[in-house]
Amino acid sequence: MMTMQDTSVPVATWRRLVEKATREGLRAYRLNGDPRSWAVTSHSQADTAYEVTILDGDLLCSCRGSAFRPYCKHRALVLAMLGLLGTPDGASQPLVPDRVIAALQAA
Ligand SMILES: [Zn+2]
Repeated sequence: MMTMQDTSVPVATWRRLVEKATREGLRAYRLNGDPRSWAVTSHSQADTAYEVTILDGDLLCSCRGSAFRPYCKHRALVLAMLGLLGTPDGASQPLVPDRVIAALQAA
C-alpha cells in the first residue's frame, strides 16, 4: 500500500512524462465535463483507456504501473491539460491535490 509521503514527484518527471505521452499520441478526455474525472487513452492497448481521477486530494490512475509508482504518463497528461505544468502560479488551482502542488513547488 502506497502512502502519500511516497508521492513527491519532481515537476521535471511530470514534464518528461507529458512529452512521452504526447509523442505516443495519447489523448485525455474530460468525462461529463468534470475536470476531476478523465479518461486517457492507452499506448500499448489500442482499445483501452485508463481512468484518471482527482479524489479527496489524491491523483489516481487505473493503469497497471500506478500500482507501483506515484506517477504515470496518464496522470501527467491530465496535469498538463489542467495547465499545472506550465504555470508557476499553478498552486492556486483548487482541483489538484496538495501533494501534487507541493511536488511542483519543490522542483
Ligand atoms: Zn496511468
